[in-house]
Amino acid sequence: MQQNSIYEIKEFLRSKGINPSLQRIKIYQYLLKNRTHPRVEDIYAELVNEIPTLSKTTIYTTLNLFVSKGIVSKIMIEDGEVRYDIDTTPHGHFKCIKCGRVYDIDIKPSIFKDISTDGHQPIEYHFYVIGICKECLEKEKEEVAQA
Ligand SMILES: [Zn+2]
Ligand SMILES: [Zn+2]
Repeated sequence: MQQNSIYEIKEFLRSKGINPSLQRIKIYQYLLKNRTHPRVEDIYAELVNEIPTLSKTTIYTTLNLFVSKGIVSKIMIEDGEVRYDIDTTPHGHFKCIKCGRVYDIDIKPSIFKDISTDGHQPIEYHFYVIGICKECLEKEKEEVAQA
């Protein structure tokens, strides 16, 4: 789904039963434009210039509302670090320990069929990998070459 204009976002939020206030529209638009799995602080730092009355609490409660409506998902890779993802389709994440970026990675949905939950009913699956991203690897190679 691609809703980018304010009007489209407004209609989309309304269709999900969300009252489309300007702040909510702006937060949703930010997530659409920045597919980098931002944290509350990242969104705040960017939007406060445009909306001086915005608070981190508003962003936090708005994101929780979006999560409860199923239009945004919450990802937690590390303790105490919550990130938000506009892509709610099943996919995995790769977090780079060097630059801290979180990338999307493809996972085959069939992978979940092989996971035994011992009779417990699963609701959500989270799949992530920690490592060094290819950009950081490239940089390392260049540094070695220059030394
Ligand atoms: Zn990296
Ligand atoms: Zn993602």
